[in-house]
Amino acid sequence: MEQGAQSSLLLYSSTAMSSEANFGNPSSIHWAGRRVKSVVDDAREDIARAFGIEDPESLFFTASATEAINTAIKGAFFLSLKNKQKFYLVTSKVEHEATLETAHFCEELGATVVRLGVDANGLLKMDELDAALGAVPSGALPMLSLMIANNETGVVFPWEEAARRAKAAGFLVHLDAVQAPGKLINFSLGAGPVDLASFSAHKIGGPKGVGALAVRRGVKIESLLHGGAQERKRRAGTVNVAGIASFGAAARALGERDLGATAALRDHLEASVRAKIAGVTVQGAGAPRVVNTSNLLFDGVRGEGLLMGLDLDGFAVSSGSACNSGSILPSHVLLAMGIDKLAAQSAVRVSLGPRNTREEIDAFVASLERVVGRIRANAARGSIR
Ligand code: PLP
Repeated sequence: MEQGAQSSLLLYSSTAMSSEANFGNPSSIHWAGRRVKSVVDDAREDIARAFGIEDPESLFFTASATEAINTAIKGAFFLSLKNKQKFYLVTSKVEHEATLETAHFCEELGATVVRLGVDANGLLKMDELDAALGAVPSGALPMLSLMIANNETGVVFPWEEAARRAKAAGFLVHLDAVQAPGKLINFSLGAGPVDLASFSAHKIGGPKGVGALAVRRGVKIESLLHGGAQERKRRAGTVNVAGIASFGAAARALGERDLGATAALRDHLEASVRAKIAGVTVQGAGAPRVVNTSNLLFDGVRGEGLLMGLDLDGFAVSSGSACNSGSILPSHVLLAMGIDKLAAQSAVRVSLGPRNTREEIDAFVASLERVVGRIRANAARGSIR
């Protein structure tokens, strides 16, 4: 349901992309370089302010949240290798692929990885967390890497409590915070027990291809990219000035969002769907969720068919996870919540944008009702023949 052009994307034309400002390299010390550097530093401050990060200098820019997550986890793993230590990583079964596959990579190179389960509502099993925190192999470098909010269901983990327990147990704590800003009411990373946090510009209305990693002062990890002193030697390579400026503009615009209004629209959507369509369940409905995500399962309906029907009516929704929508595999998140493979394949994820209206929700529910009805009628005819 996310809508097109983002005003923040237009803003960089008047800042970083103007020919004069675009001339310098932010790493150069001449006036043109300093001017571009100030564009990057202003964005850093705006982003830190919007995300509740006290120290803007703790943030450095990457090409995506995927890169930030890789840097956080592999950066800690490489440090453990350098120090000839074991690496002990605790994460969950419902993380984004950026975490899951990075964890798998580290495991192949000798790390021990514990993947925590979730309950039927998608909430972290805290008893499994406690058991994992108490089982650090001797001499190992222990790290917890957890998402704040799930990208498929919108379910919010008790991230502050999990981070607090992990810090008390001596862990390095990394949060995949991608789905929190602009979607989680009152989100602020704050001065809490967090060492590293990953963010993505395009999840807050900024451009695709920019991310950031916050690394608390004093926390040491290895860099992923070598070959330059940019970003205080934390990430080599000339930074994406235009993308970063636009990320900053999107962060500034977050303050104008009415998250309560989006939550009310989401509730209206779910209530209408339940009232008009039989055999529907809302995943994670019993858990705290971000304001804009609904994961719906329809009995006896394949997600792909539903997607295609809605697409013909002009609605862009995804089956399972958007980052994974080329695949027809059932979602690992829904499987971890105990949903069987067939039912998981009927999942549709609806994400609301800040500009969606009640009229659009009503038109969407009417389209959903038609498409679900048609698919079920065709299936019933097929089974009679
Ligand atoms: N983590 C979560 C929870 C996400 O939802 C996504 C993308 O959707 C990512 C990480 C990866 O972000 P990026 O697209 O910036 O690599």
